Amino acid sequence: MTSPAIQPCFLGPYGENDALLEKLVVEFLRDHVYWRRNFHPEDPPAIPTGAAGEPAFREFEARMRRELHALSASLKRSVPFHSPRYIGHMVSDLLLPGLAAQFLTLPYNPNNVSIDAAPVTIDLELKVGLQLARLFGYVDDPSRADCAFGHLTSGGTLANFQSLRLALATKAFPVALRAVAPPLVPLPEDDWSAFNLAPSAAVALLSAWNGFLAACSPKERRLWRQRLSAERLETLGLAGFLAKHPELSTPRVLAPVTAHYSWSKGMKLMGLGRAQLELVPERGMRTNPDALEDMLGRCHRERQPVLMVVGVMGSTEFGTIDPLDALVAARDRWAAAGLGFCVHVDAAWGGYLTTLFREADGRLRPLADMREEFRDFPAPEVHAAVAALGRADSITVDPHKLGYIPYGAGAFLCRDQRAMQLLAEDADYVFSPGDDGDFFQRFRQLGRFIPEGSKPGAAAAAVYVTHKVLPLDHEHFGALPRESILATEAFRTAATRFAARLEGRLACRIPFEPDSNLICLALNPAGNRDVATMNRFVRELHRGLSFDPRQPLQSREFFGSMTTLRPEVLGPEETDRVLASLGLDPATLDAGGEDDDRLVILRHTLMNPFLLDTGNGISYLEMYFDYLERQAMRLVGGAAA
Ligand SMILES: *Cc1c(COP(=O)(O)O)cnc(C)c1O
Repeated sequence: MTSPAIQPCFLGPYGENDALLEKLVVEFLRDHVYWRRNFHPEDPPAIPTGAAGEPAFREFEARMRRELHALSASLKRSVPFHSPRYIGHMVSDLLLPGLAAQFLTLPYNPNNVSIDAAPVTIDLELKVGLQLARLFGYVDDPSRADCAFGHLTSGGTLANFQSLRLALATKAFPVALRAVAPPLVPLPEDDWSAFNLAPSAAVALLSAWNGFLAACSPKERRLWRQRLSAERLETLGLAGFLAKHPELSTPRVLAPVTAHYSWSKGMKLMGLGRAQLELVPERGMRTNPDALEDMLGRCHRERQPVLMVVGVMGSTEFGTIDPLDALVAARDRWAAAGLGFCVHVDAAWGGYLTTLFREADGRLRPLADMREEFRDFPAPEVHAAVAALGRADSITVDPHKLGYIPYGAGAFLCRDQRAMQLLAEDADYVFSPGDDGDFFQRFRQLGRFIPEGSKPGAAAAAVYVTHKVLPLDHEHFGALPRESILATEAFRTAATRFAARLEGRLACRIPFEPDSNLICLALNPAGNRDVATMNRFVRELHRGLSFDPRQPLQSREFFGSMTTLRPEVLGPEETDRVLASLGLDPATLDAGGEDDDRLVILRHTLMNPFLLDTGNGISYLEMYFDYLERQAMRLVGGAAA
């Protein structure tokens, strides 16, 4: 049954909390108007009192109303994300505190590019970074030099891109510094070792360099800075930099086979090239640490630099979680062996699940306590992975996914704020000089550090207020992922019953046990051995679960999504296992026909807060399986008899 704690959090599937939201919107709109009037109340109104009665005014208003009505009418064809009948993509209803904070902030229109344009919301954004830092186990005390730093982005795609930028800057800086050879700074002995420092050692070197600069006269300092700047990869470009350092080559990124396609985009955007993105073989759709070890060993032997190893917390297709503890351990081991790289965790989807693992005082919850709330969650491996988050060099998390915040609110976090200096852009026309000052002062010129320029302060306000109303621990925000994980466990129970009920008519399998709240179903009519036939069947089922602009919304009972399993990603063993479990003939896979090179499966995102019985006897999950049975039996036709 849905927890009462969740009842005031959302507008609700039926708009149940409409009066509350309406009151908030009107109240704070009025409040904004008073703020305008009170700036200089002695200024007379610029728009005359009688203006609204003029024909031109009324004509404008009529046009505006017409267009707004047209917009509102067409938006009725939107996808009903708010409904518990929507279990498709990674989106659901919006948290009221975030929605209200967004509405409230919009008319002030703050621009979080810099403090001049956003005196209030910039600090909220920096505080959001600290709130998320604490969630993940990073240092969140801004008075400490090694405090973490985080900022918002338009989404996970750009946060992942920012992680590549920072990793490359961190890797290349020691090489540039060697070329400049400032006295008194302990430098790596050759380019290869400079390019292969542990990320923490590169930050230590940066601090030593800052210490050296601080002791210089202002004029000397300028000269040294210019010299360094001339040697940096960011100045020379990758080609120019590598030409100067022939021992080095373009570094690779090792990512799991489940990696989101933003990684491919990022490689292209960085100019590293898609070919430098190598996929690490999986085990159950999680990075296989042995395979990773082999790859790193090969890179080491071949003197192939590695920029980053990516771990995914909550894969986009399967909800699986990589063994992050093994990744950070590999980083430390290989750095000691002379192959340095960063570990980035792409927790765009799964990051907020961490709230379930956090005590209110910030400690990690013991596994045993958590297991009392759930049937299987979390697996001990998942608990170990979450415990290792604080050791990752950087993290992506999307408040606009499991944070239930309006788009676009992604977030990038780095473990040690000192590294961010390497990304700083000197745009004097926007920013006053000086990197010094305290944490907030330094990052208030946010535009210097982020990929974007102008960006919405309203998004920062939405995330901040949400985290204040629902602190990021299991007693508060955790109520949401708790509901979602319970719904996933209920879904699995229902799927098992469904499979048993349809035994002999339909094979229904969960191809990969998820670690989170995303779950796939592979469905094959009994007796069918042909891959292409199964794919046609599942595509047809999916058609009934997807949006069709030509059909009224109400013609859809449920919304779901689909994905595919490709043998080149699965590897031969897993492919055979999945095929056998569905009764498929391996000879029909990739037999040269249409649509037979992969398996099409249904994918379900169980983040709607009202999936479980809310006390009125309706379980949307049970209804979904009834629906699926009807559709599947209709498609297999008379054969069901
Ligand atoms: C959604 C997602 C992304 C991309 O995030 P956007 O907010 O859509 O840009 C990246 N990685 C993972 C694992 C995701 O689930």
